[in-house]
Amino acid sequence: MALIVHKYGGTSMGSTDRIRNVAKRVAKWARTGHRMVVVPSAMSGETNRLLGLAKELQPSQVTPQSLRELDMIACAGEQVSVGLLALALQAEGTPAVSYTGWQVPIKTDSAYTKARIESIDDTRVRADLDAGRVVIITGFQGIDDRGYLTTLGRGGSDTSAVAVAAALKAAECLIYTDVDGVYTTDPRVVPQARLLRTVSFEEMLEMASLGSKVLQIRSVEFAGKYRVPLRVLSSFTPWDINIEEEARSGTLITFEEDEKMEKAVVSGIAFNRDEAKVTVQGVPDKPGIAFQILGPVAEANIDVDMIIQNVSRDGKTDFSFTVPRNDLARVLDLLRASVAPSVGAALVDGDARICKVSIVGIGMKSHVGVAARMFSTLSNEGINIQMISTSEIKTSVVIDEKYMELAVRALHLAFELDRESQTA
Ligand code: ADP
Ligand code: ASP
Ligand code: MG
Repeated sequence: MALIVHKYGGTSMGSTDRIRNVAKRVAKWARTGHRMVVVPSAMSGETNRLLGLAKELQPSQVTPQSLRELDMIACAGEQVSVGLLALALQAEGTPAVSYTGWQVPIKTDSAYTKARIESIDDTRVRADLDAGRVVIITGFQGIDDRGYLTTLGRGGSDTSAVAVAAALKAAECLIYTDVDGVYTTDPRVVPQARLLRTVSFEEMLEMASLGSKVLQIRSVEFAGKYRVPLRVLSSFTPWDINIEEEARSGTLITFEEDEKMEKAVVSGIAFNRDEAKVTVQGVPDKPGIAFQILGPVAEANIDVDMIIQNVSRDGKTDFSFTVPRNDLARVLDLLRASVAPSVGAALVDGDARICKVSIVGIGMKSHVGVAARMFSTLSNEGINIQMISTSEIKTSVVIDEKYMELAVRALHLAFELDRESQTA
């Protein structure tokens, strides 16, 4: 029978009752002859609690040494989860064994708090599967070549699960979560959001990269690279639901372009409140300035997302870009201390109260006027656009954070995403 990977998120693992439920579901799959590997997250709130404790003791500035310790701390949540789930499965009469990332081992680079998986040794896991055991592997964590524990970035258990599925050449990776699948937008913000039965890999990649946290972006990248069949579905259905029905539920991420497939002009709206805007004012408008400002930011391993340079007046210009909100203080310190004086900038300013809202759809490739409709919808709501960026299948805007929900709801309505028939 097929090898299947299940991943259960924090809410799905949120209490011993929920863990018992997960165990009953996994035991059901094992009973029908599937070879089962399960990748659970920490119990909901646990990673935040652990990192909160760290924050109480951490000096304001993170250092390479403190990043290593943060991973040591954050790893603990998943270790508890795998042990509890193994006990719950054993109580169901299903042989099960748990492993941490380092025991597998799942090898990563040394970018603490956002490490990348480099390889997974499947020997141990295969031996257990051959012996008829369910194998439970911690999400979110790995080990680097110095033997230090690493984590894969928030939401990283999705990536662990897909990477494990790729390494084991699993027939399917099922990501169980607290909603029914991937919706047109976050159903907690827009109750009219519609469940998508399929979503193309390209669109899912954009939605994840633009902030739809239902899947961590690296998990989608992995699925694309290794063609891992991937489905997002609910862990809140009754555990004893018919297994064929369960296997067809939720959202399938598709890789093939199917002519008959729904090709919405806009198929989803994503938003991201985790960015902040940095503006360097009064910069001399001459070659090399962008590099002089952004080079040191990249060297500090800080991701820059949207960039905008205004038209110059009297040879001076303003240069703005967005960075992860957690890194804002670090970027401001860096720019104010060394970069601004050397480029001759007048002022460096930061704004954490921004939000990025994006519309995504493969149909945008062949349709003009989609971005214009987005801008007119926001203008009708009196929402000012601070930055814009576009690609073939998405348009993103940065707006004041306080208008986020209004913007997402208005766009959902304007592009009629609650209706099935919006196809190109
Ligand atoms: P888990 O703990 O299972 O990993 P997450 O909280 O990371 O769950 O992701 C699931 C959440 O993602 C949902 O509860 C929902 O609020 C949010 N979400 C954001 N965008 C979407 C979307 N387009 N479709 C479904 N859920 C979304
Ligand atoms: N527990 C980790 C987090 O909260 C990883 C995950 O849940 O995917 O980010
Ligand atoms: Mg998640």
